[in-house]
Amino acid sequence: MTLSEPYPSLDEILVSMGEGGRRVATIDAGEGAAGNISVCVGWPLELRRHFPIDEPIELPLPAPHLAGHIVIVTGSGRRLRDIHANPVANLGAVTIAADGASATLRTAPTRLFEKLTSEWNSHLAVHDDTVGRSGTNFHAVVHAQPPHITYLSHLPAYRDEAHFNRQVLRWEPETIVHLPAGIGVLPFMIPGSDTLMAANVESLRRHRIVVWSKHGVMARSDLSVTRAVDRIEYAETGARYEYMDLVAGGLAEGLTTEETRAIVDAFGIETSLV
Ligand SMILES: [Zn+2]
Repeated sequence: MTLSEPYPSLDEILVSMGEGGRRVATIDAGEGAAGNISVCVGWPLELRRHFPIDEPIELPLPAPHLAGHIVIVTGSGRRLRDIHANPVANLGAVTIAADGASATLRTAPTRLFEKLTSEWNSHLAVHDDTVGRSGTNFHAVVHAQPPHITYLSHLPAYRDEAHFNRQVLRWEPETIVHLPAGIGVLPFMIPGSDTLMAANVESLRRHRIVVWSKHGVMARSDLSVTRAVDRIEYAETGARYEYMDLVAGGLAEGLTTEETRAIVDAFGIETSLV
């Protein structure tokens, strides 16, 4: 999937990141400075008016497929719910050089952060891997900490990916429609670590959203920030139902496998989950 012209403007991208940040906060998945958002763009953007200050930076890992691309990303310690009110103070714009190893970080005079998000390595690695495999010219990545998904990942049985998907995708008919590749589940890994970065890339090849056990999720979309946040909302809603059912003593039926299969057939969904 690639976006076609007319491409979204820089202002439209900044607004979409602000709106995505607000929606993450609305579902209580972005407490304090939790969560981060980035957008990778493959067409030229005039950055200097919004981000006049530039400095050379080294990338945390080589991103050979992103040469010439721009990644707009949240600063460390910034609040997702505050992006919409003042995007340039909370975001930096990284233009990746032709060598795929160095870059220029552009920021605004009102910049409110020292460094880019602590999960910058995971954002960059997922963008590089996806652009390298699919050639997309747009890619949004959102990390959030939705409480019901994260709670389930504290229960050992739910760290089994097949079990997690069976239990969480059985509450609403549209969940399988919007998450046909299901939800990846990783064990607990240290935030910001190379281990998490590598496992996250691998899981997001097969899924559009992955659980970082005992921490949160990362979701991606080659259409919009909104679609990436939608995936978090659908997964979190399924997890909330599952939590409610656990608290209620497991009284509910949930959609049966036959019912889910009928939904898949009716909507022509390609999935290996049922
Ligand atoms: Zn986090």
